[in-house]
Amino acid sequence: MAFQEWTNVALSFLSPEVCQICGDERATARTGFVGSNCRNQVRFIRPPFCQRCGLPFPGDLTTRVECENCREMDLYFSSARSAVAARGPVLDAIHRYKYQRALWFEPFLADLLIREAGPVLHPGKWDYIVPVPLHPLKQREREFNQAERLARRVSAATKVPVQTRLLQRSVPTRTQTLLSRPERAANVRRAFALREPRRLAGARIVLLDDVLTTGATTSACARVLRAAGAGDVCVWTVARGL
Ligand SMILES: [Zn+2]
Ligand SMILES: [Zn+2]
Repeated sequence: MAFQEWTNVALSFLSPEVCQICGDERATARTGFVGSNCRNQVRFIRPPFCQRCGLPFPGDLTTRVECENCREMDLYFSSARSAVAARGPVLDAIHRYKYQRALWFEPFLADLLIREAGPVLHPGKWDYIVPVPLHPLKQREREFNQAERLARRVSAATKVPVQTRLLQRSVPTRTQTLLSRPERAANVRRAFALREPRRLAGARIVLLDDVLTTGATTSACARVLRAAGAGDVCVWTVARGL
């Protein structure tokens, strides 16, 4: 039995069929133990948003081409999109998923992403899904890479294959949380590299991560992939930090 199934079994003994966000409604393993009241608080990202980095604009500013985030960043991906806003139950679930190994939230998070990304990620249009890698030390400590696990679920839903052997995080970086946009970009600029030298010959790649804030991390990955010959690199994340 896989680790995740064990945790689900353990959880169903401890707190049977109860929403793990509010503790106050029914929820099952299949729905990631998030009940309908908490699901109703999830805010999907809807237009208008920046065509490049996906940052939502307040109001109806549909004509703006470049947002404040894009003006301050050198972005190497063609576009970034996120399924939902990183707040409320989603933010809670992501933090506990990553930092407390609350893997039972994974179906909830993956379903949000698949619901939005699934309809636009066709195997004929994209060659690989590449999860943003963790540094090996961090991955050993966390025991899993959340981006990779989510990527496998998106791949199962879209039939776009996952490629985990392409990129590596060769430099351990400080957490980005308290850094400004330029500091974030500098912090991760040289953090990623190809695992081994190869030419990507126009490959069309979907970079996948759990959260996107400024895009500094995914852009650093996209830069490496583009330099190796990738034809197009787009980004999908479950949540957008706003
Ligand atoms: Zn709930
Ligand atoms: Zn933007």
